[in-house]
Amino acid sequence: MWNQTMQKLGEERSVIREIFEYGAKRKEEIGAENVFDFSIGNPSVPAPECVREEIARLLKEIPAQALHGYTSAPGAPEVRAAVADYLQKSFGVPMRGDLVYMTCGAAASLTITLNALFEEGDEFVVVTPYFPEYKVFVERAGGKVVEANTDANFHLDKTELERAIGRRTKAVIINSPNNPTGAVYGEDELKMLAALLNGKSKEKGAPIYLIADEPYRELVYGVSVPCAMNFYKNTIVCYSFSKSLSLAGERIGYAAVCPACENADELFAAVCGAGRSLGYVCAPSLFQRVCANCLGKVSDINVYDENRRLLYGALTDMGYDCVLPEGAFYLFVKSPEADAKAFCERAKKYELLLVPSDSFGIEGYVRISYCVDGGMIRRALPAFESLAKEYFG
Ligand code: PLP
Repeated sequence: MWNQTMQKLGEERSVIREIFEYGAKRKEEIGAENVFDFSIGNPSVPAPECVREEIARLLKEIPAQALHGYTSAPGAPEVRAAVADYLQKSFGVPMRGDLVYMTCGAAASLTITLNALFEEGDEFVVVTPYFPEYKVFVERAGGKVVEANTDANFHLDKTELERAIGRRTKAVIINSPNNPTGAVYGEDELKMLAALLNGKSKEKGAPIYLIADEPYRELVYGVSVPCAMNFYKNTIVCYSFSKSLSLAGERIGYAAVCPACENADELFAAVCGAGRSLGYVCAPSLFQRVCANCLGKVSDINVYDENRRLLYGALTDMGYDCVLPEGAFYLFVKSPEADAKAFCERAKKYELLLVPSDSFGIEGYVRISYCVDGGMIRRALPAFESLAKEYFG
């Protein structure tokens, strides 16, 4: 036999993928322009020009063996140094290259970090609603997920966090800008969380870590994302270039241990050990270098911003209830009926493909991904209107 948990995970299709595949089938049946697929978070804006330029330059200037061969396990030293330098210049964190581990995207950054931290009996606190893979990653590492609800606007709730964090907590995972709500946690929130974590760490007699999952860091609309490392020393940042540079399929990101972290070098050794044991050594070599030379560059997020305004304005006018997202590229809308899955089924009648919130650890909402063509949003508005009439008259 083989591992039954793995078989179940492989068979249990992700809700988002299932809807996406249903959409592909419908497109074949009725034409792509008649299907309004808001399911998946695949960047719709091309990578910035610097990415293509860098690929071309690197291919020309660096001999193939050096460019495509192995780098050292945590990444090419000059790439790690460039990331550290960028973090230092951007956020004033005295980052060192030898605390940066290059990964295959944020998913790898998270699994590596969780495996590096986990000890028998550990719990990991996540705030609802949360990226569904957190549960898969935490449980595979051996840990238990403990959920803390957010407030009415999907921001951190002190009482809930106080309840959820205890002696067994190894880390709290936050994701700002947030998938699926678009919430961006401000300085006051991070100060509150840091004070709570400091107090709880003291009670526990050991540090409780903060895992800051930040694949949407640069995707913000008129607000900035405070750097978690400047608020709480025992922080590990899990970053990816999937969204900022529209490179989701190239699988490239990093995990960075805050230099002020207690025993940072030993913890980083555990990160390297986790990367090694999971087989996540030497992230894609060409893209390590491409990203190192495109740090600070971002795809054209004005396109997402226009989509955000268009969809939020139109949907709220029709009677739907949602909070204006401050970042990422998702709109989190209250389902007009308690059962969000039933609402999504009804939406399908109008060829609208939305994701029910249940797998994000909360009921009664749908996620609408607006990293899509603006033309599709405009074509979909009459469908949203017809659907709204079924509920609001
Ligand atoms: N964390 C969050 C909140 C995400 O939304 C995603 C991807 O959508 C990931 C992590 C994984 O990112 P990557 O594709 O870079 O592995």
